[in-house]
Amino acid sequence: MTTDQKQTPLDIAIDLKQSEVRIKWQDGHTSVYALDFLRKNCPCALCEEERKKAEATPMYVMSPDLANALGELDPSRPAEKVGQYALQFFWTDGHRSGIYTYAYLRQLG
Ligand SMILES: [Zn+2]
Repeated sequence: MTTDQKQTPLDIAIDLKQSEVRIKWQDGHTSVYALDFLRKNCPCALCEEERKKAEATPMYVMSPDLANALGELDPSRPAEKVGQYALQFFWTDGHRSGIYTYAYLRQLG
């Protein structure tokens, strides 16, 4: 089994009714992600910074943007592929700077 197969999606299903994303990988594994979970794990620099601060500081108050993020995708344009290596999600709160690489998604799943 190569790392490539583990990080290459065969099929990506974005299920807005169930509020989840399902990815079937080439190695046969299927990962299911709740949209809330994906939104809270947004890999953009801003959100990453927030998560790091929250981890390091017990009393840290996360920015409401991230803490209250709903994890809802724009139904007319929920996500797009970025090249061969990543997905970009379009959240209804306007946040869209996170590029979720397949390597990152596989790790999250
Ligand atoms: Zn973000």
